[in-house]
Amino acid sequence: MKLDQYRLTEEPAYHASGNEVAFYEAAYEARLPVMLKGPTGCGKTRFVEHMAWKLGKPLITVSCHEDMTASDLVGRFLLGPEGTHWQDGPLTLAVRYGAICYLDEIVEARQDTTVVIHSLTDDRRILPLEKKGELVHAHPDFQLVISYNPGYQSVLKDLKESTKQRFCAMDFTYPAAGIETAIVASESGVAPDVAGRLVRIAEKSRHLRGQGLEEGASTRMLIHAGRLMRSGMSLTDACRLALILPITDDPDMRDALEAAVDACA
Ligand code: ADP
Repeated sequence: MKLDQYRLTEEPAYHASGNEVAFYEAAYEARLPVMLKGPTGCGKTRFVEHMAWKLGKPLITVSCHEDMTASDLVGRFLLGPEGTHWQDGPLTLAVRYGAICYLDEIVEARQDTTVVIHSLTDDRRILPLEKKGELVHAHPDFQLVISYNPGYQSVLKDLKESTKQRFCAMDFTYPAAGIETAIVASESGVAPDVAGRLVRIAEKSRHLRGQGLEEGASTRMLIHAGRLMRSGMSLTDACRLALILPITDDPDMRDALEAAVDACA
């Protein structure tokens, strides 16, 4: 009942690239925590949504950020008309009632926030609510999933070794051209040949990674470009809005990306 709002009612479309569905099912069966590694916009969130739907489990997603405190995850006392009462945070809800909890971009959170997951991700499967003086034993259905973008890491912003070693990890990258074309076509509604051109442009931008671009164009960006084209925009304009301007301010890099678009237009 508590988790009804977190149940997925429709199947989130997911195009698999390999054995990831079977691997995840095995990890869930063993109730092992999972780390999804890969660049932003390559399908990690969609994959977790699809798996939660497939396994018939509720999914509680938390986007981590640097101001997030442990209380934002586990809960806090709130002041109401009848005094103070405890309100479970998203992690505690998932632990108590049995959901998959997805902590998106975990490295954005401060390390003192991240340590609350330690006792949940070993054999104990417990969550201490220190302020409340309660020890919550995880529901059998509970599982923790985190996402992690290895490309952005600096020494200051990395997961502690003791955190990393608690997880099984799965590598995600942009899907192969044929699969990515099918994704862009079905998610944005453009014809497959147009989707194929967008994917070729993205591939060129991904080759510029490390030469002035932090990341190439993601699958998410290609879908945005496709949607702009469905609204009547030309390929050139749609790519400028959705693929080029968001990722670089450097005039030479913009020229290089525009040349890549022109070559596929
Ligand atoms: P991430 O979590 O890695 O940042 P998302 O899962 O949000 O990325 O992916 C961005 C968008 O790309 C999704 O909303 C979805 O439309 C699309 N997408 C990416 N990969 C897939 C896939 N394998 N199957 C279906 N859609 C996908």
